[in-house]
Amino acid sequence: MTNIDEAVKILKEGGVVALPTETVYGLAGSINSQAAIQKIFQIKERPFFDPLIVHVSSIEQAKSCTHHWPKCFDILAKEFWPGPVTFVVPKNDSISETITSGLQTVGLRMPDHPLTLKIIQELHSPLAAPSANKFTKTSPTDYQHVKQEFPDLPVVDGGKCQVGIESTILGLENNKILIYRPGMLQKSDIEKTLKNHQLDIPVTYHESPIAPGHLKHHYMPKLPLILQIGNQLAKDHIPNNIFKNPLYWDIPDKPTMAARQLYSKMRELDKETHSCLIFKLKEEYLVQEDFSGIVNRLIKAASYTSPKNFSNKT
Ligand code: AMP
Ligand code: MG
Repeated sequence: MTNIDEAVKILKEGGVVALPTETVYGLAGSINSQAAIQKIFQIKERPFFDPLIVHVSSIEQAKSCTHHWPKCFDILAKEFWPGPVTFVVPKNDSISETITSGLQTVGLRMPDHPLTLKIIQELHSPLAAPSANKFTKTSPTDYQHVKQEFPDLPVVDGGKCQVGIESTILGLENNKILIYRPGMLQKSDIEKTLKNHQLDIPVTYHESPIAPGHLKHHYMPKLPLILQIGNQLAKDHIPNNIFKNPLYWDIPDKPTMAARQLYSKMRELDKETHSCLIFKLKEEYLVQEDFSGIVNRLIKAASYTSPKNFSNKT
């Protein structure tokens, strides 16, 4: 186990460390070390076209990464940071294009975890950190998950992640706030805060081609995952041998609980003794805003859905 002082030392020397956040564990490197950033892509086997989120310990530090910090994001950051929301803003020269995959924008977030905030403060530098898992695989939400996947990596133990799925990602285009990736901070939370500040800015879902949604599959366990919506399992479009020895999980009714357990369950149940995982979701959750981030991850993690075609209405 790596402590705070050791983590800061490694990061200062251009190394990488896995760190806890409230969403998922991140694989972090200093934004000032090109070597560290390259190591992150190598370890994750992540293609260079997928940009990293930059983690800060204050709004001031976020402002130091951009040449335009919009008023609406300032209000939202004051309300929800530290917390599970990332703001995409124009980058300045402190952020290399290796971090942003050549984009002129950068995603900024202040994570809600005391150990990681302390590390960023002591380092006096933001950290670029994607989730600490191999590209397209399930994100880690516990210390052990990271250790199992990367036994040789230094990892700071911050316990179980309290939110459990990745941040809501917001962009601002043509005076509209776009939700590039849904998460546990909801559209209605954003709208309410803007309204309280007399800001009249529309908020819409808009999965970005440069957010992870551009990949049909992401967050995948090793066993085929079937997302069963409702009580009936439609099997016609699914190869029969998959059903030899299935393992079921009923997605909890409470969205905060469902998000917190989602990736743990994907890992815990992902055993070769079984032939597939069937995650059962109540149909009414498709229209519940609080489930939008969870449903988004489930669809990307699933090899098959039942019914084959359905529309996610949030
Ligand atoms: P992950 O590395 O899986 O935690 O996810 C981070 C995600 O944030 C990436 O997959 C990106 O698509 C998204 N992201 C980071 N920077 C930007 C940006 N400048 N514009 C849009 N999306 C971004
Ligand atoms: Mg990831």
